[in-house]
Amino acid sequence: MTNYWNIPGIPRKGWTSENVYDVRSDGQSVEETDYEVCMMCNNERIRYVHELSHPAVDEIFKVGCICAEKMTEDYINPQKRENGVRNKSIRRSTFLKKVWDKSQKGNYTLSYRGHRFTIFKDKLSTKYKCVIDEQFGDHKFDTIDQAKNGIFEGIEYYKKKGLWK
Ligand SMILES: [Zn+2]
Repeated sequence: MTNYWNIPGIPRKGWTSENVYDVRSDGQSVEETDYEVCMMCNNERIRYVHELSHPAVDEIFKVGCICAEKMTEDYINPQKRENGVRNKSIRRSTFLKKVWDKSQKGNYTLSYRGHRFTIFKDKLSTKYKCVIDEQFGDHKFDTIDQAKNGIFEGIEYYKKKGLWK
């Protein structure tokens, strides 16, 4: 593999980590995933993308973990952040495998650790809407799978805020 680390005009050090994300964060299967290519070393099939910024570069660089470590000269936090994203992805795939009940009215429901989730089709927009316990979500989803993923994100949000029991 070609080493792209000597891109003219691109600094090798002094980068700041802005974000780490999973290219499969919408619950996509392997087949329907668009993996990223590391912009620094051209390594392909990056699943966990590190977004880095540099004061002398206009563009946000999307790179893999090893390049992120070198570019930020931080050999602890990039892997730590990637592990956090990976753990969330594991929780997501566990949640998305759960079997929901479908009511006669066509609503999907799931009871889960003392909570109750409902997904129903909005009559006006014909899109799916979510209810977590008694709380109606604002988002509308095109597919039932996207709605289930929306419920998962809702749970994660409540957990982060310390509002999940
Ligand atoms: Zn790389």
